[in-house]
Amino acid sequence: MSGPGEFEAPRRARWSEIKSALESAGFEPSRALGQNFLVDENMLRAIVRDARVAPGDFVLEIGPGAGVLTAQLLAAGARVLAVEIDERLASFSREFLGEERVQWIVRDALAGKHALAPELIAALPTEGDWKLVSNLPYSAGTPILAALARLPNPPRSATVLLQKDLALRLAAEPGSKTYGAISARLQAVYAIEHLRDLGPQLFWPRPQVDSSLLRLELRPERPSAAELAALDPLLDTLFSQRRKTIRNRLAEYLGEGALADRACEQLGLDPRLRPEDVGHEPWLALLRLGAKKP
Ligand code: SAM
Repeated sequence: MSGPGEFEAPRRARWSEIKSALESAGFEPSRALGQNFLVDENMLRAIVRDARVAPGDFVLEIGPGAGVLTAQLLAAGARVLAVEIDERLASFSREFLGEERVQWIVRDALAGKHALAPELIAALPTEGDWKLVSNLPYSAGTPILAALARLPNPPRSATVLLQKDLALRLAAEPGSKTYGAISARLQAVYAIEHLRDLGPQLFWPRPQVDSSLLRLELRPERPSAAELAALDPLLDTLFSQRRKTIRNRLAEYLGEGALADRACEQLGLDPRLRPEDVGHEPWLALLRLGAKKP
């Protein structure tokens, strides 16, 4: 039995039971931590199906919250590494789910603004396929995905719920207004598909924005770690002034207009294009030609 103020977590419970257990323990969702729980069981099951989770899969879930998505991952036979910043939710979910096939890390998934927590990195497989399936905390979604994509053995797929406008930016095609440095950074590593939108009514409490489910699939020909490290400053320079031409931005990056002209010629790119008109491929090709910041 739980004592006063502690959670009595019902196993295999419906959302209404989970919510009343949380509320009777005085839990109030934190906006700062993006605590909007997905309460629609059909949608939770659909996400696990979209993620193509099979028995024995290693799945990282960042922000399991009250454990409702985790329960579906376990039902599909996954082994789950669960990383939750909120101790109260982690202890609630632990009780609700049991320990079997769940490994817990109770801390911020990030160490600083851009790096993953060392405990998380140490617990991830260093070889073989594994998956990320998460309803990500909105404020930390971008740095988490960017850092996971830079791992030596990144997730083979990521099926993630994000705030809709961010999801659309990540999945944007070159030539669209929303295509930016973060789209290029992630798309160099993953093919990104926008699967569906989810309205606020599917969450408790209701968020003020729509959400979208993305599926990221690792590219077989993904760039090396050194290429990715070199791509970051190039993309930063290109997209720091998106209304300028790529010739202008390349001249800044390469230190000379003549080098920018030569690069455009070698890449077969019209120098008058804007950064958002060009996908990540020519920039990787440029780095492979040995272009460097002076
Ligand atoms: N997976 C649950 C669901 O679908 O209902 C909860 C998702 S909720 C959008 C985000 C969760 O991430 C919350 O449980 C929150 O406490 C947790 N969280 C927020 N920031 C985090 C961080 N930096 N590292 C780990 N967990 C975090």
